[in-house]
Amino acid sequence: MLRPLMAPLLATVLILAGLTVFLWTISYRIRPLLFARPDVRWDEPATRTEKLLEYGFAQKRMPAKPERPAGMAHIWIFVAFIVAQLGTLTSFGLAYDANFHLPFLTHEARLGQVYLLTKDVIDVLGSLGCAAFLYFRVIQKKERMTLSWEGVFILFMILGVLWTDVLIDAAALAKSAGEVPWYLPVSGRVAEWFLYGMSPGAATTLMTAGVLLHIAIVMAFLNFLPIGKHFHIITGLPTVFFQRLTPMGQLSKLDLEHTEKFGVAKLTDLSWKEILDTYSCTECGRCQTYCPTYDTGKPLTHKEVNRAIRHHAQQAAAAFPLPLAVLAQHLNRIKPMPAPANGHGAHAADGHADDGHGAEEPAAAHSDPATGSEGAFAQGLQIPAELYEKLPPLVGEGGILPDETIWACTTCGWCEQACPVFIEQIPRIVDMRRHLVLMESRFPEEAARVFKGMEGQGNPWGMGSNRRAEWCADLDVPLAANVAHAAREFEWLFFVGCAGSFDERQKKVSRAIVQILKEARVSFCILGEEETCNGDSARRLGNEYLFQALAQQNVDTLKRYGFKKIITQCPHCFNTLANEYPQFDGHFKVLHHSEVIAQLVSEGKLRPGQVELSEPVTFHDSCYLARHNGISEAPRQALISLGIRVKEMERNRTETFCCGAGGGRMWLEETIGQRINQNRIEEAARTIGEQGTVATSCPFCLTMIKDGISETGRGERMQAMDIAELVALGLPQRT
Ligand code: SF4
Ligand code: SF4
Ligand code: SF4
Repeated sequence: MLRPLMAPLLATVLILAGLTVFLWTISYRIRPLLFARPDVRWDEPATRTEKLLEYGFAQKRMPAKPERPAGMAHIWIFVAFIVAQLGTLTSFGLAYDANFHLPFLTHEARLGQVYLLTKDVIDVLGSLGCAAFLYFRVIQKKERMTLSWEGVFILFMILGVLWTDVLIDAAALAKSAGEVPWYLPVSGRVAEWFLYGMSPGAATTLMTAGVLLHIAIVMAFLNFLPIGKHFHIITGLPTVFFQRLTPMGQLSKLDLEHTEKFGVAKLTDLSWKEILDTYSCTECGRCQTYCPTYDTGKPLTHKEVNRAIRHHAQQAAAAFPLPLAVLAQHLNRIKPMPAPANGHGAHAADGHADDGHGAEEPAAAHSDPATGSEGAFAQGLQIPAELYEKLPPLVGEGGILPDETIWACTTCGWCEQACPVFIEQIPRIVDMRRHLVLMESRFPEEAARVFKGMEGQGNPWGMGSNRRAEWCADLDVPLAANVAHAAREFEWLFFVGCAGSFDERQKKVSRAIVQILKEARVSFCILGEEETCNGDSARRLGNEYLFQALAQQNVDTLKRYGFKKIITQCPHCFNTLANEYPQFDGHFKVLHHSEVIAQLVSEGKLRPGQVELSEPVTFHDSCYLARHNGISEAPRQALISLGIRVKEMERNRTETFCCGAGGGRMWLEETIGQRINQNRIEEAARTIGEQGTVATSCPFCLTMIKDGISETGRGERMQAMDIAELVALGLPQRT
C-alpha cells in the first residue's frame, strides 16, 4: 500500500532525476549545433508556420504513395502521442493531488468530456498504430526500415504511456464504482471488466501506482530519445519548421570573392540545420524506396548518410565545450569570433549570398538590438582550431563516408520529396563535392574532361563553340546576333542547350522543336555560338567556380539582348535558368518545350494529326521536370493530342525514377551495382510488354533510355523518342 506522502515524494524523485539526466544528455546533442555553420532558418515565419501545421501536425507526407498503410498507422500514433501529453500533465498533477485536473477539463465540463472521449478513443487508435508497426517490424520485416530492438522498445514504451493513462482513468472509476460515463468508452470497459468490485482503498492505490508508472515510463522515454533515432520525436517538428523554402532545384550560391574555404570538409562545416536533420532521421527508409542508387546497389542512401553523420556528431560531441560556458560568454556580451568562412555567403548567413528573391540580408534582419548579437545559430561560434584539426574529414580516407557515396548521387530529389520531416540531402552532398573539387582537386577523372570542355568551349564535349548552330544550318532559324533588336523582333528565345546543339541524337529533337514552332507560327530565334552551357552539371559536380562563370556569361548575353521569354528542351537547362539564374539577377519566364507544345495545342495553334504507332507507349518523367519543377501533365497532354494512350510505369510523375544522369552523373562512369538506366528499362519493359516506345522529354534521359534499351538487348523491339519527335510525326512534312 502506498502511503499518502510516498506518491509525491516518488514522483518528485522520478521527475527531478529524469529531467537532470535529460538535460545532461541533451547538452551533448546541442554542442555540435552551436559550433556548426550559421544558417538563418526563421525568415518567413508565416510560411514556416503554415508548413509546420500542414506537414508537421497534419503529417501530410505520411500517407503518400507507396507507404499509405504505414503512414496512417504513424498518424494514429502521432495524434495519440500529442493527446497523451495532456494525460501526462494530468498524471504529474495527480501525483500531488488525487483530485487534480487540467483547467476546463473536468468530468463535469462539456469540454472536459470531449477531451476524455478523444483521449480514450485515441489511446486505442494509437495502440492499433503501434500494433501495425510491430507487425511491419517483427513479422513483415519491411525492408526499408532499420530493424533494431530500439524501434520495438520504443513502441512498447508508447503503449506503456497510452495504457497507464487508461489504467489511471479506469482506477478512478473503480473507486466510485458508479455508472460508466459515455465519454469513457475504453477506460470504462476496462474498469467494468477488471476493476469493479475492488475496495476504494485498493482502487486508490492502483490509481497512484498507475500515475507513478506513467511518470516513470515518460521519464525513461524522455531520456531514451536523445541517444537514438527516436530523437526525432523531439526534433522532428522543429526540422519541419526550419525546412528550406527556396526551390528544390536551386543550390546555394557560394561567395567566391570574399572567402577562401569552400564546401563542407568536416562536421562543423555543415550548418546547424544539417546536423539537426541527422538527429531527426527516423530511419524509416522512405527515402530509399525509389532512390536510384539504393535500388541499384550503390553505396548511397539518404538514411545511411544521416546515420553516419549523426553517429559521428554523437561521438565528437564530448570534445566540444559545454554549452553553459558558451551561454555565459553570450551573457557577458563577449562577442564570439566569426565562424570559419566556407563560402556560404559573407553577407547572408543562410548560405545564399543572393537567392535572387530580393530577400533582406538575414543576419542584419535578425540581430538582437539589445546585445548586437545574432545568437549562435545565426552567427556561429568559433570552434577551437585544435579541435577542428582533430575532427576527421567527412569524406574519404579516415572519414565517415567513402568518396563513392558522395559521387553516386544523381540529385534526383526522390529522397527529399519522400522524407516526412523534410531532411535535405542534395545541398550537403553538393557541398561535400564542392570541398573535394575546389579545395582538394579530388574528383573522378571523367569530370576533369567535362570541366575542361565547358571551360574552353562552353560545352561538356569540348566541341568547337563556333559549331553550336550547325544543327540548324539548313533550317532557316534566325540568330539573335543577325537581327537588330532581336528581343523586340522575336517573342521567344529558344535556348537549345549543349546536347541539343552537339549530340547527334538530340539534334533531331532540336529540329523537331523547330518544326513545331514554325508550324504554330511561333516567333523565335536562337543565340547560336553566343549561347554557352547552362552550367548545371558543373554546379552539381561541385565546380561552383565554373558554374558561376557560365551562368554569368549566359545571363549577361540574355540581358544584353533583353530576352524575357525562353523555351528550353532540357529540364536541366529549364531548372537552372528558371531557379538558379535569378541568383545572378537573371529573371526570365522559362518554359519547357512540353509546356509550349501543350499550350499551342490547347490554343488551337498546333493541330497534330493522329500518329499511328502500332506498339504501346510509356512515358519516362524527367526528375528535374516532374519532381524538381512539378511539370508532369504537359508532356502527357502532348502525347494525348496525338491520340496516344500512355501506359504508365509504376514510378511516374513526381514519383518518377531517375534515369541515372542527373547531378553530373551523365558524365561519370557507373561501375558499382546495376546500371540505373537498365533498372528503368526493365520497368518500362514490364509496363509495355517488351516492345514499344519509351517517350522522354529530356536530352540526358533520352540518351540513358536509348542506351538502356540497347544494353539490355531490346534494341530491335523498343525505341526511345522525345515527345517533340512524336508530335512532329503528326505534323505535315514540309520541305
Ligand atoms: S531521411 Fe527521412 S525518409 Fe529517409 S530514413 Fe530519414 S526520416 Fe526516413
Ligand atoms: S537525390 Fe536521388 S540519388 Fe541522391 S540520395 Fe536522394 S534519391 Fe538517392
Ligand atoms: S536526365 Fe532526366 S531523369 Fe535523369 S536526372 Fe536528368 S532529368 Fe532526371
